[in-house]
Order: sequence, then structure tokens, then C-alpha cells
Amino acid sequence: MKPNTPHYLDTHYPAGICTKCKQITYYDDFIWNSSTCRPCKKIANEAYRIKNAAKGITVASQICSSCTELKPASMFAASRGNPTGLQYQCKVCHSLNTTNKPNSKYMETLKRSTPPWITEEMMQIMQGFYTIAKQLTSITGVKYEVDHIKALNNKTSCGLNVPWNLQVITKSENASKGNRDLSPP
Ligand SMILES: [Zn+2]
Ligand SMILES: [Zn+2]
Repeated sequence: MKPNTPHYLDTHYPAGICTKCKQITYYDDFIWNSSTCRPCKKIANEAYRIKNAAKGITVASQICSSCTELKPASMFAASRGNPTGLQYQCKVCHSLNTTNKPNSKYMETLKRSTPPWITEEMMQIMQGFYTIAKQLTSITGVKYEVDHIKALNNKTSCGLNVPWNLQVITKSENASKGNRDLSPP
């Protein structure tokens, strides 16, 4: 599933550690199929694009990452940060997908709730919860989601975004729970 589809965040933990600069990187600055953050990726792509340009290599057409159709270069907006000098999505798909950005308010809450002492191992465990939710959904046909046991946005207390505060529950259980805590106080 692509990151800019609405339900991406239900099954993907929206953060990782950039393999290049070793910084915790959140969805906004993270490219879903890359192990590096957006700024690091951009530097690498720019170098690649300049190398291609020097060799006289230009792209006449490419396959859109969203609709997977082969389209002429004119159907893609320019992007200096990509090796081809073009965006990965065609202009049509780009205009359709931009409205499906992940909820930035949720991302802010998530960032605020993630302690600065979080380790790479903890992040991997958290990613595991999202993988389990995804697998359960595909096996059972019932939609599973990752839930924070102690709610992140509770009025009286604020749960943390850490492995021991995560659980996998069905979407309907999650919806009926709302912002309350399931665990005893
Ligand atoms: Zn980086
Ligand atoms: Zn397209």
C-alpha cells in the first residue's frame, strides 16, 4: 500500500531510523520504500541526477508509481530531488493523492508522545505490531489496528508511544474505545 493512501497509517508504523544520519524520522520526512530520510535521500538523488545529466541521459517516459501506467515525461512534474528529475507519480495521480495526506494532528500527537530515549530496538518492536495488525487483517478479513492502551490524547493522562503501550485490536473495538483507556488506572 502506498503511504499517501488513507489507511496507510493503520498498518505502518510511521517512523523509522534513517540508516544514513541515524536520526529518528517521522512519516512527514520519511519515504516509505527508502531506508533513509527525505533530506538524505534528496542529497543522494541530486548527485545521481547530476551524474545522469552529465552523461546526457534523459527520461522520455516512465511508469507512474501510483497508476503504474507508462506515460511521457511531460505527464510528470519536475522534481530536482529525484534521480530522473521527475516526480514518481504522474500529474493526474498526484492531484488525486495530495488530499490523502496522513492526519498531521495525529502525527503531532505521536511525536509528542514518543520519548526521546526511544531506541532503535523499541522502534522495531513497534513496527512489529503494525505488521501483526496487517497480517491478522489479511488472514481473518476483519480489520485490525494498532492501538495505544493508555490513550495518547486522554484528558487526564497522556500515554506514551512505546512498545509496552501498544496492542493489536479490531477496528470496531478501537472505534468503541475512542480516546478512553482500556487498562485499569
Ligand atoms: Zn537521514
Ligand atoms: Zn499515475
